[in-house]
Amino acid sequence: VLILRRLIPRLQSLIGVRVELAAEIASIHNILPFFEPPRRSGGDTPFRGFETDIEVEGLTFQYDSEEDVALDEVSFSIALGEITGVAGPSGAGKSTLVDLLCRIRTPSGGAIKANGYDIGNFALTDWRAKLGVVIQDIHLFRASIRDNIAYGLPDVSPAEIEEAARAASIHEFIVNHPEGYDRVLTENGADLSGGQRQRLALARALLRKPKLLILDEATSALDPLAETLVKEAIAARPEGCTVLVIAHRATTIKVADTIIVMEGGRVVQSGTWDSLVNDLGLFQRMFQPDA
Ligand code: ADP
Ligand code: MG
Repeated sequence: VLILRRLIPRLQSLIGVRVELAAEIASIHNILPFFEPPRRSGGDTPFRGFETDIEVEGLTFQYDSEEDVALDEVSFSIALGEITGVAGPSGAGKSTLVDLLCRIRTPSGGAIKANGYDIGNFALTDWRAKLGVVIQDIHLFRASIRDNIAYGLPDVSPAEIEEAARAASIHEFIVNHPEGYDRVLTENGADLSGGQRQRLALARALLRKPKLLILDEATSALDPLAETLVKEAIAARPEGCTVLVIAHRATTIKVADTIIVMEGGRVVQSGTWDSLVNDLGLFQRMFQPDA
């Protein structure tokens, strides 16, 4: 009976979040699509972690409504434990690539492979449990800050949530409010700044102790927080965590071990920062060395 009593509020809060989610499905563009099941949920092979580099092989994707492909036979490797950067102008296909990595969408051709297998073979929950994703339009629920950070993880302690919030530099902001972690956010965190929402997204991602951290830097070049956030996320990542960082600023992507340059759905260049700045090409035109 005691166990039941303890379980009921927890169940209620879980159900609460589910109800919110269902109510939101209409405005699908605002939802963090990471939590949306794809049309096909894929295989059921357990996935316990990365044993090999992630291989993107001839990856092609076409949106139903579009004539042109968003990704056109894209191939590259994401080296385990390293930072891979993706640069490219708006519309290059960078966020589509993120969606395919998160299995929000299914490739039209080619594959993303982990441990030698198409990632579509892995149980979706196993796969996503290894990913931490910080994207521009994080979805926040009308729920407490604590539940927003813990979202999707049933068994985390308040201490773990606070640790993630500290690592994401949002703890001070949270406890400055009288209700602290119990403060219920308004719809989609409308009373928070873009930077605060992104920090909550980072706390949520770090709490999952991801093996692959995906950061899609805000395109709004006017928000100077985004770059700091990417740097802090990389600094706070768990040991051995692989990072894929999509950046719109030269200084953000400088930390990458390897940079993939995309344009019009294709990989047009790749290499280290030093090699790319010395190469006549799109990268040099996009990111004039600024120092
Ligand atoms: P990036 O993140 O590099 O700016 P995207 O992956 O968002 O590029 O977009 C790649 C291409 O796919 C663009 O031509 C864009 O218009 C198109 N696209 C992106 N999202 C959608 C969508 N939901 N429906 C239809 N077309 C889309
Ligand atoms: Mg994008």
